[in-house]
Amino acid sequence: MPTEKFIIGGVNIPRGMNTSINIELPKLYNTPTQLPLRVIRGRKSGPVVFISAAIHGDELNGVEIIRRLRKLSILKKLRGTLILVPVVNVYGMMNLSRYLPDRRDLNRSFPGSSKGSLAGRVAKIFFDEIVKKCDLGIDLHTASIHKSNLPQVRTNIENEYTFKLAKAFGAPVVLHSELRDGSLRGVAQEAGVPILLYEAGEALRFNEHSIRIGVKGVINVLRANDMLPQVLNKKAIKTPIITKSSKWIRSTESGMIRTIKALGDTVATDEIIAFIDEPLGDKSFEILAPFDGIIIGKSEIPLIQEGDAIFHIANFKNLEIADKKLDYFNENALEESEFLELNNEEIIE
Ligand SMILES: [Zn+2]
Repeated sequence: MPTEKFIIGGVNIPRGMNTSINIELPKLYNTPTQLPLRVIRGRKSGPVVFISAAIHGDELNGVEIIRRLRKLSILKKLRGTLILVPVVNVYGMMNLSRYLPDRRDLNRSFPGSSKGSLAGRVAKIFFDEIVKKCDLGIDLHTASIHKSNLPQVRTNIENEYTFKLAKAFGAPVVLHSELRDGSLRGVAQEAGVPILLYEAGEALRFNEHSIRIGVKGVINVLRANDMLPQVLNKKAIKTPIITKSSKWIRSTESGMIRTIKALGDTVATDEIIAFIDEPLGDKSFEILAPFDGIIIGKSEIPLIQEGDAIFHIANFKNLEIADKKLDYFNENALEESEFLELNNEEIIE
């Protein structure tokens, strides 16, 4: 049977090959700049999936997730093709910045244009060379600078396929989210390439828990997408907390913040979640939870201006169930042995 060609960056990747490819990007002044990829093509045919990180150049957990992922021996059993893109916004990472040197947000610049801005040109190359050739993508993010996110998968939960994969990922929370104009997820979806968004941790920091859930999550999705063998000892997997809406709570005062509640805590309506103090003032202003839910994002900087986003709360009514599930995901979801298992190949053929 002739093997069909799979060409990326002008290079044909035959089945069974695992190789690095660099795609030419616009030069940074006179310095040649490239988009580095790893393409792993399994011996058996199957879906083509990309995993991308650092579309926002300061969001680093995903870079580490991809680095660890690439080393797992379970990938030798891959059916289909995996394209790993650890640093999409190379220029932003050099500057420790979310943005490109033209101050544009790459994740608002899709599908891009070869005659457009720098962001548009990078978006176009990434979209045409990688995204369009895939059946599915997982895009890895963290919260923006000075904020942190509880590990969560964002997707359109009305889409049966992505909802199934989002649940299979195994992050504590699945959050329904609408598509944004110019975002990779929005534009890819229109082009028929569904995307799961994994959001976990903080910009410019590594968070071990977020990284581990991310590595395991990608493997779980590849399994659910029939690209990797199923596990032998299937423990009862807890379903994540599924939430249809969320809201950023903004400060009504300026000052220094003392947060009472942490990431992953549940909060009841009107419960105090933080105090805003003035450095020499006697008054403390209370910040209350406006509805029952789970803290899925929070500000990490103690300085707050009126209007700043402090807590991201996901709507969830049954706080007892939420607490139980969050405990499970904090303590039991990621045993060391599971990672050994990925390398020891204790799996069904
Ligand atoms: Zn991001």
